[in-house]
Amino acid sequence: MTPASKARSNGGGKPPDANQWMGQVRAELERVLVNGCDIGVLERIIEHRLKELGRPLLEEAVQKLADRQALLCPRCGRELHVERHQRQRKVSSVFGKVPFRRSYGFCPNCQERFYPADNAMGLQERAPASPRVQEICALMVLESPAAQAEENIRRLTGLDIGQASMHREARRQGERALRLREADAALTNSLEGVRELAQRAQAPKGAFTLVIEIDAWNIRERDHWGESEKLRKKGEDTSRWHWVYAGTIFRLDQRGKTASGRSVITERGYVATRQGLESFEKQLYAEALQRGLTKAKSVLVLADGAVWIWNLAEDRYKDATHRVDFYHVSEHLWTVARDLYGQGTPQARQWVQPLLRWLKRRKDGALDVINTLQQIRAELDNLTAKQQETLDREIGYFKGHKDRMDYKNAKALDQPLGSGAIESTCSQYQCRFKRTGQFWSLEGDEAFLALATVHRNGRWHRLFPHDRKLE
Ligand SMILES: [Zn+2]
Repeated sequence: MTPASKARSNGGGKPPDANQWMGQVRAELERVLVNGCDIGVLERIIEHRLKELGRPLLEEAVQKLADRQALLCPRCGRELHVERHQRQRKVSSVFGKVPFRRSYGFCPNCQERFYPADNAMGLQERAPASPRVQEICALMVLESPAAQAEENIRRLTGLDIGQASMHREARRQGERALRLREADAALTNSLEGVRELAQRAQAPKGAFTLVIEIDAWNIRERDHWGESEKLRKKGEDTSRWHWVYAGTIFRLDQRGKTASGRSVITERGYVATRQGLESFEKQLYAEALQRGLTKAKSVLVLADGAVWIWNLAEDRYKDATHRVDFYHVSEHLWTVARDLYGQGTPQARQWVQPLLRWLKRRKDGALDVINTLQQIRAELDNLTAKQQETLDREIGYFKGHKDRMDYKNAKALDQPLGSGAIESTCSQYQCRFKRTGQFWSLEGDEAFLALATVHRNGRWHRLFPHDRKLE
């Protein structure tokens, strides 16, 4: 066995002598240089050999960290009755397995045994992954299915983490994300909590408008694997799909354009949950507070015509401007046009275009549209039953939403006419969560949704405190 391979294979011990280590690595590089290689090969060798330095350094520091922890109950804060001072644990780090010893003790108050160092150092119960490894698993599983993630991790870090371990680890992080989310949502139950959430908002000095967009999509359930297609064809599939309620929140001044003229939102908050409307409402409120709800000069709620959305908006954002998405509204007019004049006919187009213009340009455009529809309904005596039905339905739709169609004002204020931002959010989430072959359990979906949302919301550091720039 060469000294180099001995140093690499032996687990514990001190860091190798720096000069000796440099000499060995140089010699190894020389050998591949002679045979010809590209820079990537050199990078890989150095990267790999650096772990020999990193592992013993980490081991030393982890032990010091463990020794520094106070022996207090992590739950109630009381002093623990220390039963035995030294117990070994191994952690899987980016430099390999690192053993350390730590004390544990019994809390007479909680009647439970604790290892206070573990939690303080960022380790979870019965889980080997170090915080960096936890993070790597979480990020990779969010971005790609487990098999692909496993390969990518190996390529990028040299770590061999099996699919099952990786998925388990990512799930564990998802559950941490869920607990964070629940804690935030629970804050909305009290005035002090609401104040705390509002204080987190980084709002600008001047007046600003906060935009809240709401939508929903559905996600497939895992049970009845393989039968979904059959069931759906039979029309019995509805229970296999679950609504995911989603919202996005941003300030109007956070909208911009790319060099190519595409609209972008530079920073925004996200909410996505399948835990039902009541839970969604709290989560959305918590997020809106953290994005400056209480400091906004005006608030704008944008969505399609779904009844539950406007009930929620009336309930929680009563003083906000409510606007129904222009594209959805125009679709309703096109439905009438098609029913009256036929699909794709010039007459249909001729009929619908002035109405769309009124909506955008007239102060009470929606009333003019309603009048027109009512006139047709009353005066045309050769309407079929289907046409009458369509007209009645759409008159009802426009009457119900007429106060949410201030498009003229919206244009004047340079506000969005539609809920395109939430629709693109939904399709981004769906990209990951509806990918072919992705069948996750109910709980799993929610944990991964929570994890993806923490990531999108720029709060990764709340799960992984090391996620900040090193000095
Ligand atoms: Zn306790």
